Amino acid sequence: MSPNFRDTNLLPIWQKIQNGERLSLEDGLILYNTNDIISLGKMANYVQQKKSGDAVYFVLNQKIEHTNICVLSCKFCDFAVKKGDPDAYEMTTEEILSKLTPEIMEVHITGGMPADWEWERYVDIVRSIHEKFPQADVKAYTAVEIDFFHKKFKMPIEEVLRQLQAAGLRTMPGGGAEVFSERVRRLLFNQKIGAKTWLDIHKTAHKLGIPTNSTMLYGHIETLEERLIHMLKLRETQDETGGFLTFIPLAFQPGDTNIKPHDQFTSAIDDLKTIAVSRLMLDNFPHIKAYWVMLTEEVASVALNFGADDMDGTVGHERIAHDAGATSPMELTKEHIIKIIKDAGKIPVERDVYYNPLNVYSDHVIGKIPYLNSIPFYANFEKRQFRILPVVPRRMGVLNSKGQIDAGLFSLMDYFSEEENLEFMNWGLASRDQVKSVMLFSKEGWLDLNGKTIGITDDTATSVQLLNVLLEKKYGVQARFERLHAGVNDLSGYDAVLLIGDEAMRRNKYGLNGFELVFDLAKEWYDWKKLPFVFAVWAVKKTLDDATKNELKEIIERSLEKSELDFVAVAGLHGKELGWSAQETKEYLEGFNFRLGEREREAMQEFRTLVEEVETVSIK
Ligand code: SF4
Repeated sequence: MSPNFRDTNLLPIWQKIQNGERLSLEDGLILYNTNDIISLGKMANYVQQKKSGDAVYFVLNQKIEHTNICVLSCKFCDFAVKKGDPDAYEMTTEEILSKLTPEIMEVHITGGMPADWEWERYVDIVRSIHEKFPQADVKAYTAVEIDFFHKKFKMPIEEVLRQLQAAGLRTMPGGGAEVFSERVRRLLFNQKIGAKTWLDIHKTAHKLGIPTNSTMLYGHIETLEERLIHMLKLRETQDETGGFLTFIPLAFQPGDTNIKPHDQFTSAIDDLKTIAVSRLMLDNFPHIKAYWVMLTEEVASVALNFGADDMDGTVGHERIAHDAGATSPMELTKEHIIKIIKDAGKIPVERDVYYNPLNVYSDHVIGKIPYLNSIPFYANFEKRQFRILPVVPRRMGVLNSKGQIDAGLFSLMDYFSEEENLEFMNWGLASRDQVKSVMLFSKEGWLDLNGKTIGITDDTATSVQLLNVLLEKKYGVQARFERLHAGVNDLSGYDAVLLIGDEAMRRNKYGLNGFELVFDLAKEWYDWKKLPFVFAVWAVKKTLDDATKNELKEIIERSLEKSELDFVAVAGLHGKELGWSAQETKEYLEGFNFRLGEREREAMQEFRTLVEEVETVSIK
């Protein structure tokens, strides 16, 4: 629904947002200076809905601040002390491990930088957590700490990160960015790294397949322009690497820093504006976090309708912000976070460190495959009592097996395995011949893939089975499959790589370096069987009552009918984001049957038989 603009200066910006155009620094200043807060929030919520539907993520996490002793003396820091200070502490690895429990999914480690710790101590923390709590992903050490290790232990940045990665580090936190302004750096943290070093370290991490977060500390002496320049620098880097998971605006806590009076916190209006403006400026960032520790839970809750789609997590016992006077509780229970998210009208989604959904806590959840090919079903979807959860096919299957999805466009293999609980709905995604979005990028021809290693995207449930059937039954060869984990972008060790969805389409258009041959799996199937291939089917939980099922069927059919009148209008913008022209998007969508008839049912049966005949897919 279009916002009811009171500030007409926002209209051209709204136009840009709807057309998928980038916002400029000048646009950002107009957004920051508007008094039309509600329209600003609605615009940000519009973008957030397009990216994550009704989902708001949280993680069961534990913060570890291993020591508060620091060789630096940043003016805004109320946490750090010098060695010998009565408040100084240093945690042993055993003490750190004693704070963790088996349900923790993310361990977030940042702290001070003491002069006398050995390199092995930092590595040992990561390794010990990884070994004792393998379910927990370790997110450790800010760019400031990485730079400190590089200088103190005389190792290149890349080597520091490689050793931590080998010990079990999965992602890096985004702290230490403060605000990318040389003026502010000189005044408040002149011993700390500046924008270039911070960004270079994150780029190196991304190159190694370590996704990272990013932050901005606001509400001290920075100008609005400096905040926007900060966002633009992050946006530029994200264009280059795609390695940032989230952006976290951090509200400055004055404490006893003497930068501002100790009770002069940022206003709720400034906090909400910053969340909304960052959602609108950072169009290439998947997530924006409302970090309740610094915002307070009340502001974080409202921020969930101002563009934020992540509430961070339970956090455990946080010290850095609280030492600076943060008034939020030291930790929140899972139940309390779920309640805050539900009260905001969203779906609470417990996630891992890569934002894969682990558990969903809501009724009437409709799973949405977040690819261009599913848009005709969802573009005009009237939500009514339902809520939309974008989730890749394999993860939707996992949630469905836990009974946490009520209906959706399920991967065909997930439908087969849950058939007794699901009712088939006659709609789906069936390719006619080629599909352009389920692609094998290979260094070898089919016959030469025998015994070779194929990297498999983490998203797929059905395409990997199709690949296995084609290899074994059509070509008579067997290959090894290895799961590509999120963030892994070094593909050189694989002989072929299977990608699906928008990523496959992007690579199909621009190529995948080192993989000269490209095979469309649907075309391979069609040339062999002269049948369409059904990748996904709509299905609904059998246990839902008839009235709800009928309402859903009516919504799906109406949405599809509307979309079929003009594919370009409903999906053109998404296609544009993938670098496709309107004509290419139209042709792509016209290559699917969205209604499943006799031939599609025959194809499903044929595929089911073949899957049963080949060896079960094993993915390392
Ligand atoms: S902000 Fe970080 S680097 Fe600066 S003094 Fe505090 S702990 Fe040390």
